[in-house]
Amino acid sequence: MRWITRPYARRLQWRIVMLFVGLLVVVQAASFLAIRRDLEVNARATIAQELATGEKVLRRLLAANAQNIADASTVLAADFGFRAAVASGDRATVADALDNHGARIGAEVAFYTDAASRLVAATTTHGDAAARALSGRMAGTAPAADLSLVAVIDQRPYQIVTVPVRAPQLIGHVAMGFPVGSALLRDVEQIAGLRTALAVRAGGAAWQVLPPADAAPADHDELATQVRALGMPSAAATVLLEGEQYAMRVAPLGRSGGTEAAVLLLQSVDDAVAPFRRLQLILLAISGAGLAVFTLGSIYTARQITRPIQALSRSAERLGAGDYAVPVAVQAQDEVRDLARSFEAMRQGLQQREQEIRRLAYWDTLTGLPNRAQFHGALLAQLASQKPLSVLMLDLDRFKHVNDVLGHAFGDRLLRQIAARLRSGGLAEHDLVARLGGDEFAVMLPGADADTAIDTARRLRTLLEQPLTLDDHTIDVSAGIGIAAHPAHGSEADTLLVRAEMAMYAAKSQPAHETGVMLYSAAIDSSSEASLSLLTELRAAVAQDQLRLYLQPKIAMATGAVVGAEALVRWQHPLRGMIPPMQFIPFAEQTGFIRELTGWMIERCSMRYAELQRRGIDLKFAINLSTRDLLDQHLPAKMERLFARGGVQPQALCLEITESAIMDDPERALQTLQSLHAMGLRLSIDDFGTGYSSLAYLKRLPLHELKIDRSFVMGMETDRADLKIVRSTIDLAHNLGLTVCAEGVENAQTWALLKALHCDEAQGYLMGKPMPETDFAGWLLDWHAPQARLRTEFAPFI
Ligand code: C2E
Ligand code: CA
Ligand code: CA
Repeated sequence: MRWITRPYARRLQWRIVMLFVGLLVVVQAASFLAIRRDLEVNARATIAQELATGEKVLRRLLAANAQNIADASTVLAADFGFRAAVASGDRATVADALDNHGARIGAEVAFYTDAASRLVAATTTHGDAAARALSGRMAGTAPAADLSLVAVIDQRPYQIVTVPVRAPQLIGHVAMGFPVGSALLRDVEQIAGLRTALAVRAGGAAWQVLPPADAAPADHDELATQVRALGMPSAAATVLLEGEQYAMRVAPLGRSGGTEAAVLLLQSVDDAVAPFRRLQLILLAISGAGLAVFTLGSIYTARQITRPIQALSRSAERLGAGDYAVPVAVQAQDEVRDLARSFEAMRQGLQQREQEIRRLAYWDTLTGLPNRAQFHGALLAQLASQKPLSVLMLDLDRFKHVNDVLGHAFGDRLLRQIAARLRSGGLAEHDLVARLGGDEFAVMLPGADADTAIDTARRLRTLLEQPLTLDDHTIDVSAGIGIAAHPAHGSEADTLLVRAEMAMYAAKSQPAHETGVMLYSAAIDSSSEASLSLLTELRAAVAQDQLRLYLQPKIAMATGAVVGAEALVRWQHPLRGMIPPMQFIPFAEQTGFIRELTGWMIERCSMRYAELQRRGIDLKFAINLSTRDLLDQHLPAKMERLFARGGVQPQALCLEITESAIMDDPERALQTLQSLHAMGLRLSIDDFGTGYSSLAYLKRLPLHELKIDRSFVMGMETDRADLKIVRSTIDLAHNLGLTVCAEGVENAQTWALLKALHCDEAQGYLMGKPMPETDFAGWLLDWHAPQARLRTEFAPFI
């Protein structure tokens, strides 16, 4: 596009100019040539005309001359003395008279012939010769008064005029001769504006130009040579004198005795053509000027035509390059203007569509936040700067539940509210909040290291935890937030996103009293090398029997009897020694390995149960279940098979489930719990007080026991608030028909307090730490219930 349209428009412009100018040049040249030819023809005709006129003038002058001479001769012819002399036949007297008379009128030649044209007398030898030359001619003709001829005498032309002499009848002729010379020719030159020269030739030979009697012109020899060379076969010819062209016309004067005389009339061609040349030049100048004006005009016109096209093609280029911002503004007329308008309409359409596409492509329509694509792009751009940054990924807890119970429209509005909270959540200007989809949000914190990101995450979580009221429903919102930091956890956008997500899932599966914020680490990453090897090791742990069952006694407070034990797992690692459960349970939950672990635990507990039974010890075993176990639809069936084999009875097992494990997917948890309950298993809610379970929900669960979280129990002796929480929890549990177990009893005063508050069971380091299963029977033998008196200060709280 770029390299076709614009040069094309430019070419178009030049083609228009070339066409116009080319046509004009052809027309101008044709008319110029035609005019030029006409002018030449005209010039030639003019020259011919002038030469003809010159000849006429010559003849007129000759005629006028002849008349003058004739008049003078007539006087002589009428002179009595002369006639008497003629009559007397006195030749000498006649010759005298001729001499006198001739001299008077300036004749060079004078002679008298008798009636039979015989020469009687002549003035000079010239006269003799002339008379002899003329006698032949005059003999045959009837002599007339105006008889005038030019005869060549001694290579010179003479005008001879003959008049009759009568007495009274014709007795002879008087003839007078004058040289045709410079005076006559000068007259011709002056009147006709021509150059002249005299020429003679003898009997068909080449013409010879005679030098004038006075000074010969400089180019005389040149003329003589050319005329001699020409031979003058025709009346008109051209000669070149001193570089100038002359048209020449031969005006014959006459002949005598085989010699011809003529006047050469010469007209300068250049002089004659000069006015035409001037005309031609003017014409040429006008043509040139016209051409120049026309060329400028056609360039202007072509510009007018092509400029809008160029502007259009520039617009098209911009549109092609995806720049829809600049309007198509083209100053044009007619079709081009219409085209420009169509272009503009097209541009606006494209621009709108592009904006719409951008909006759909980069913005979340529900919340108005940037979407995943935009977030990803921004992350890429930020990473390119090489500066540190953190990514938070945030997933709402129990959102599916809200959607199911309160409807999708409600869920949508909730998401919008949450988006608004996140946006106004005290984030910096350059921080970017996006909705990735569903109830998942992400925040990019440019410049933030892991610690700053953890602070921000905690702040956001606190912000979200403020209850939200929508349509009279008050919703407790909480979220798990995962963090991945650049460069610590990766330098690629995808890696950071995946790791932040992993951290988020880990945060959500944390025990509920944790913060709900988790920073990525290799340990939580089931795809990291460390985790892969950990998983392999865990599998090996089961196969190679490295897991250990530890038991922690549960005491009935009223009697002080050991009624059961909580089963807790330990990992006897061949290299790392005894590993506490918190170091691998979350990982096992994430990878799903927890199911195998739970299976191992149940298996192990039922074996120990049977062994203790054989010794006459009747204990209930409390086993911990995780979210994954609850979501495992095969769990009830697995239990069923266990009980079918005998050994352990359902009533002997208690399953401890945390609040958060239930609240992740309450409906499914409820189903599983109901099946387990139906089988006769006891169910206990663990870590009570740290989660967000609503009473309404608790009421629907088929529970037997409520375990107060050890954080409250451990603090109740020193912290009045904890004490109150414990007290009201015990009341609440009893009101719901549940037994209460307090875990984390570390001192006798706590024991006394709990007893006074009618707590049903207790568990803690005071009575017994978790111990290897094989030690339990021995421990039982030494067992004495704690004896403690409640301090009086607690009396008001009982
Ligand atoms: P939990 O279910 O709340 O287990 C009670 C924890 O409190 C045990 O820690 C126990 O040692 C500790 N504890 C008991 N009395 C006291 C006390 O007086 N003071 C103090 N400071 N702590 C006391 P443990 O064994 O490290 O287990 C930690 C958590 O690991 C358990 O918390 C449970 O959530 C999980 N867990 C342990 N074994 C298993 C298992 O087999 N399956 C599952 N799913 N989770 C397990
Ligand atoms: Ca437990
Ligand atoms: Ca617990």
